[in-house]
Amino acid sequence: MTTAEYRQSVERSMSEDAFLSQVVGLARSLGWRVHHCRPVVTRSGRVMTPIQGHEGFPDLVMNYFDGEDERRDRCLIAELKSWKGRNRFGPGQPEWLAAWRAIEKRSNGAVRAFTWTPADLADIELILRGEL
Ligand SMILES: [Mg+2]
Repeated sequence: MTTAEYRQSVERSMSEDAFLSQVVGLARSLGWRVHHCRPVVTRSGRVMTPIQGHEGFPDLVMNYFDGEDERRDRCLIAELKSWKGRNRFGPGQPEWLAAWRAIEKRSNGAVRAFTWTPADLADIELILRGEL
C-alpha cells in the first residue's frame, strides 16, 4: 500500500465526529474562535440538538479576528461530512448552505462557506492559515 492509498483509506473510514475534532483542534491552534453544537442522546435514546431557529444549521462557525489587521478578519461556515455521508444532507442543510454561499459571493472573501470531508484536510489547513 502506498502512502497515498493509506491516507485515502484513513480519510474514507474517519467518522464525522473524529473529523470534527481534527478541524476544531486545528482551527483553535491557529487562533480561530470556534462554535459547534453537540447533539445529545435523550433517556429514550433519541438523538437531538437543542436549538431554536431553522433546522440544518451548519456544523461549524469560526471567526478569525486578531484586532490588528482587519483584512485578516474572516468568518468560515462549514458543514462537515464523513466520506461515506458526503452526499447525504439533512433537512434544512442545503438551504442554509445555499444562503451562506450567496452571502460569501457578496462579502469579498470575509465570509466563506464550505462542505468538507476528511479528504479536504490539506486544503482546510491552508484555508485556516489564510493561504487558500
Ligand atoms: Mg455534518
